[in-house]
Amino acid sequence: MEVTSVVKSVVPQSNLFEVLESGMEHEQVVYCYDKETGLKAIIAIHNTVLGPSLGGTRMWMYENESLALNDVLRLSRGMTYKASISGLNLGGGKAVIIGDAKRDKTDAMMRKFGEFVNSLNGRYITAEDVGTSTADMVSVSQKTKHVTGLPELQGGGGDPSPVTAYGVYMGMKASAKDMWGSDSLSGKRILVQGCGNVGQNLVKYVTEEGAKVFVSDIHEDHLKKMVADYKAEVVDKDAVYDLEMDIYAPCALGATLNDITIPKLKCAVVAGAANNQLHDEGKHGMMLLDKGIVYAPDFLINAGGLINVYSELQGYNREKALEATRHIYNVTSEILKKAKTEKISTVNAAKQIAEQRIRDKKNQ
Ligand code: NAD
Repeated sequence: MEVTSVVKSVVPQSNLFEVLESGMEHEQVVYCYDKETGLKAIIAIHNTVLGPSLGGTRMWMYENESLALNDVLRLSRGMTYKASISGLNLGGGKAVIIGDAKRDKTDAMMRKFGEFVNSLNGRYITAEDVGTSTADMVSVSQKTKHVTGLPELQGGGGDPSPVTAYGVYMGMKASAKDMWGSDSLSGKRILVQGCGNVGQNLVKYVTEEGAKVFVSDIHEDHLKKMVADYKAEVVDKDAVYDLEMDIYAPCALGATLNDITIPKLKCAVVAGAANNQLHDEGKHGMMLLDKGIVYAPDFLINAGGLINVYSELQGYNREKALEATRHIYNVTSEILKKAKTEKISTVNAAKQIAEQRIRDKKNQ
């Protein structure tokens, strides 16, 4: 008798291996459950060829488990590309905790999560992300040393946003050089969409260089601060894509480059911090290319935060982290040149270089 026929399945049919075989190609997916603390987490390790996988822990009220799995698979894969293109000896990983960060998160839950991270013996290193904070990473650190994103007082790098903004600034300057032959942003009309932790720092950099800065946000307070501190001009959030500008810097949400916005866009360069700016990577990358817009790939130019937490592994030094982030300028130039020569989208150019680095390491 076949064994499977007498075993009653307690879970609905799962097709995770099919998903992995169809191109996601993760090495390991770990489900973590703890009844006492209510922890329900998934850790996804995408690729460890270049080094241990590193990526933040996102806590989010996913409507169902399959959406959480989808998110962690997608995000961890993105981390592999981000680490590789940034030249870091790191692989891609990510974790999600299912729950409401404001209501459900406890110190005990985060410590339990730390135990699960520890059980992976360093194949996955965690950090903060949406819904988790440096304080949560302190809880995690009580159970594992495989954690970054700790406060400066504890040897960590603190808030990575200023370093992320610096990397975006470097990528923006390299894109300007490619478009106009000079990397000076003086006199350029730059719109920063989203003036949160990263956007505010970016506004500071470009204002100091003499750019004409426009800002858009849904929080009145953030806009008021930008007007008071940098004399930025406010643009209604619905008028962003009608504005004549040189550079559009998406620093709020993903997918703002899509079928509706790209035909309207009146800019020469797109360079911002938001993750997953292209709604459809293949299609919208090509639409920007056809419109003659230089697009600085998000996962490359927003890697400053990752570079910042990576430097914690070597003993944190802010100057060294900024120095390494400065390199984003050179990598952006290299990618834009490759894309132009091969007439491919800048995203594809960046992905090809990232994949090649992994293949080279594998074949060593
Ligand atoms: P944040 O939450 O501090 O700031 C986001 C800002 O966007 C807020 O001020 C919010 O009010 C505003 N916003 C939201 N919806 C908007 C809309 N429709 N129009 C205009 N503004 C809107 O986030 P952050 O840390 O500054 O990160 C910004 C983006 O960069 C996010 O997409 C994030 O995933 C990405 N990113 C951040 C880091 C980092 O180090 N913080 C690293 C890599 C990528």
